[in-house]
Amino acid sequence: MDFLNRPASQPLSKLVRRVVLLLLFSCASSGTSQGQDEAALILHQAGELPIVISAPHGGNREVPGSHPRTGEGQVAAPGKFGTARDGGTEELAQLVSKAVEARFGKKPYLVASRAHRRYVDPNRPADAAFEDPAAERVYRQYHDTLEGCCRTVRKEFGRGLLLDLHGQGSKANTVFRGTQNGKTVALLRERFGEPAHSGPESLTGLLKGRGWTMHPDPFEGREQGGFTGGYIVQTYSGEPFGLDAIQLEFGNDYRKPDAREQTARDLAEAAFHFAGRYLDLAANEAQGDKANRLRVGVFRGEGTGPSRSTLLTALAREPRLKVFDLTVEDIRKGDWNGARVLIHPGGSGGGQGRALGEEGREQIRRFVADGGGYVGVCAGAYLATCDYDWSLKILDAKVLDREHWARGFGDVELSVTPAARTRLGLDRDQVTIYYHQGPLLAPANDPAVPDYEGLASFTSEITKNGAPPGIMLGATAIAAGEYHKGRVLCFSPHPEKTAGLEPLLTRAVLWTAETPDGSR
Ligand SMILES: [Zn+2]
Repeated sequence: MDFLNRPASQPLSKLVRRVVLLLLFSCASSGTSQGQDEAALILHQAGELPIVISAPHGGNREVPGSHPRTGEGQVAAPGKFGTARDGGTEELAQLVSKAVEARFGKKPYLVASRAHRRYVDPNRPADAAFEDPAAERVYRQYHDTLEGCCRTVRKEFGRGLLLDLHGQGSKANTVFRGTQNGKTVALLRERFGEPAHSGPESLTGLLKGRGWTMHPDPFEGREQGGFTGGYIVQTYSGEPFGLDAIQLEFGNDYRKPDAREQTARDLAEAAFHFAGRYLDLAANEAQGDKANRLRVGVFRGEGTGPSRSTLLTALAREPRLKVFDLTVEDIRKGDWNGARVLIHPGGSGGGQGRALGEEGREQIRRFVADGGGYVGVCAGAYLATCDYDWSLKILDAKVLDREHWARGFGDVELSVTPAARTRLGLDRDQVTIYYHQGPLLAPANDPAVPDYEGLASFTSEITKNGAPPGIMLGATAIAAGEYHKGRVLCFSPHPEKTAGLEPLLTRAVLWTAETPDGSR
């Protein structure tokens, strides 16, 4: 969802906030004094950005009716039982929130505990977090609030970033990153590759660029034991929240009173660049451009392979496209999120087709028949054919030598038709492209589907694992077709995995987004 320019949904989110405020107000006014005490112990701000700031250990207040925890039966160590507060992080969280608001012009979500950690530890599973009912209520309140924020971000923005702020006493000049060595940023890594997590334009890379001493450093190193990311980042990252979560453990040099404001400004600045790159907050783009971007859904689920993230990286470079995931569930419900084009990436065609089931496949047929675009790459091309009981039958193609589908991988040569040169924006009629066991396409002559147009054919071949020579030569490698009001374009090889040919994907997407009669 574009959130720099959302005339339709902004009033809705304002309304939601108003309702939340009303609910809070009515709870506070009609609730018991107990309810008020808990509310006073949790700091909460509803946001306008897909950024959630959490600070569970900075509080200094007593919890009425609670006794300090003894930790009986628990191990006292970083990441285990602890009662020491992360001094200054409640204040830091509020300053970060203000700095983010100043930088983005919008508020982040904020949840901070004002209760001292000796009573309750929100960054632990419930069985290690509190020892009496009064503290448990604070714990539940913290997590209900945080979960609510995360779910709202998911609903309104589709993806987001959770920053869980802590303090550590082992290295004053260092900030430790905790992501379970990448697990709590799995969505980010899947969408944008490892550099989004550990490269110079990752959040920690950007902070390092601002002069911070980060650990791990160099970035490919392992995270420090005890600071690898606790319960909060583990709980609220990935599905069903759609969030990536990073724990930051600040040394005293970053959270002492005279350093906090600068720390907050640095973090807000890094978050701003991070958001522009990975959270679809294209801060540098004109707002009008954003609204007009073509919405493209990429299948996410069983049967997709590692090339999916390569494909997403290639598409992420294209400012004309707004790219998001579509799951089996989305597709079965016909919940297209405004997509005009669906892409099925590489992996296993049978895996994807079976995961969709007939219900999902029928939804895709209807989507394309109604004028939607379909782009298939490798497995996604198998899926489009008329050749399998799990295939979509939206491209009038069969697959040659099905028996030897596992014929190997490597670069192959294609001969491209003049029409294809125009359509795909190629400046030559021979191209070398990476191939990985994609379908050898040929006309299926299915009377229910219009004949496809071959845009390119194989002029070299791969014949591993007993595949007989000669069959691949001349087979269709790129095919374009129409299906009722929609268009279909399939690549057997991988433009997204071939340096210099990535733009073919965008061209394919743009072509399928037009209806055959040009009415779109
Ligand atoms: Zn902490």
